[in-house]
Amino acid sequence: RYVLKPASATTRDTTLLNPKARKGILRDSAIVTATFFTHNFMRMVEESFHLAQLGHTDRWQPVISAVSGLWSAWDANALVVGEHVAWWISLGVVVAFLPYFPYSKHIHLFIVPFNFGLKPERKSIGQLSYINLDDQSIERFGAARMKDLGWEQIMDSYACIQCFRCQDACPAYNTGKILSPAALEINKRYHLKDGTTDVPMLDLISEEAVWACTSCGACVDICPVGNEPMRDILDIRRNLTLMESNFPKQLETAFKGMERNQNPWNVSQGDRMKWAEGMNVPTIEQNGEPEILWWVGCAPATDARAQKTARAFAKILNTAGVNYAVLGQNEACTGDSARRAGREDIFFGLASQNVEILNEVAPKRIVTTCPHCLHTIKNEYPAFGGNYQVIHHTQLINELVGSGKISMNLDGDNMKVTFHDPCYLGRHNKITDPPRNDLKSAGMEVVEMPRSGAKSFCCGAGGAQMWKEEEAGSGRVNEARFSEAKATGADTVAVGCPFCMSMMTDASKADGNPMQVKDVAELVAERLK
Ligand code: SF4
Ligand code: SF4
Repeated sequence: RYVLKPASATTRDTTLLNPKARKGILRDSAIVTATFFTHNFMRMVEESFHLAQLGHTDRWQPVISAVSGLWSAWDANALVVGEHVAWWISLGVVVAFLPYFPYSKHIHLFIVPFNFGLKPERKSIGQLSYINLDDQSIERFGAARMKDLGWEQIMDSYACIQCFRCQDACPAYNTGKILSPAALEINKRYHLKDGTTDVPMLDLISEEAVWACTSCGACVDICPVGNEPMRDILDIRRNLTLMESNFPKQLETAFKGMERNQNPWNVSQGDRMKWAEGMNVPTIEQNGEPEILWWVGCAPATDARAQKTARAFAKILNTAGVNYAVLGQNEACTGDSARRAGREDIFFGLASQNVEILNEVAPKRIVTTCPHCLHTIKNEYPAFGGNYQVIHHTQLINELVGSGKISMNLDGDNMKVTFHDPCYLGRHNKITDPPRNDLKSAGMEVVEMPRSGAKSFCCGAGGAQMWKEEEAGSGRVNEARFSEAKATGADTVAVGCPFCMSMMTDASKADGNPMQVKDVAELVAERLK
């Protein structure tokens, strides 16, 4: 670390990191190493004096026994003095270290158990805290200054061991953006050392970095001490958008779409069932007692490419004879993108409206064709009074295969597929096996990318990135992920999310279309008997 200076043990110069931290992290490590080395070394020396006084060696302590030979010419008094001096030095370095301890990163030794034990319970790592926008007494939203963060977010910085693992996992940092979740935690800690929390959050992380986050949750998932830097970033976004009306202007189109037409594509609600024309897809008005309520999602309902997924899934449901219904024009965007961009007001309106409709329908189970919808309805609507059993379409396909309601033609093409786990499916909701099982049931060979399952690498669309350009960096997140998929040698990238579909398709096009990109539902529907 001191000689080779690996890039993974620090952050790039372009990333905002407190100047004291650039040297302080190494100094902290050096001091603790020197302290414990000296302590242990002097304990050995002390023991060697002790053995020399006894006049024999100890076969269980070969090194100390060898060292004790050095004192063979010393008289008894000198050996006693030597033993005492070594003992006092070994104890003294530890005592001398104690006042420094609370100011060093090693305070984490005491804080980490509290960080794990006292962290609020969450349904998933990405579940955001509820804000009641009907409460007129709330004067401030999100975090403008460090003192606006919750106590658990402040505690994160004391728990941080400054290991940079979160930075290594961050798709934004990995593609050369100036965002580093580790730097954010470290900057918080260095300002706390100065004894104040009255510091603007934008002194701890740059505005550009705030908007580079994809809310993929990799930093939260990988942190060995349970820190949640993503939560700070989303709190800053809440403050910027709600208090300052300050957000990337490209997001305006999606915001307007959600406000006017209840979907970020800004497609008229009247056209929401167009994707199903010519197919038998019952709405809740036509089938009031469905076993499954299919939450189609804005993308599968309105985006031309994602509509193919919706049609494929409808074909699967119809073939299996599932008793299902869709909300049709009563379905609105869940508000996920608005919420991750800080527009809690839009999210609040959409969530309240959706929960009211869903509670009226009282679905037995909900299946979604989008992991973002799944995440929001399952984990964030309970705060609005909506508690539902929600599954992903790949899980339902799994059930249908298991119960023999669908079967696939296996005289196939021996297609080799790699599955790209969507962050909001694999990492945020721990659903990783069903999509793979679906593909295997359809006779495909599934090969894995180095980062898969809950450790998957983001496609770059989450956290409202879908609706804006990426911040400047050395590459694009979707292209970085696509190159991993291509390196597997598979013919096809299978996805389970319309956002991933869009990002992987763009990356494949940019690379000359070496692989096809298809949703699991499409691949299964193509092989239905
Ligand atoms: S949520 Fe993802 S993109 Fe955002 S800081 Fe964490 S790792 Fe980086
Ligand atoms: S992974 Fe956790 S402990 Fe390590 S630098 Fe990031 S926040 Fe700190």
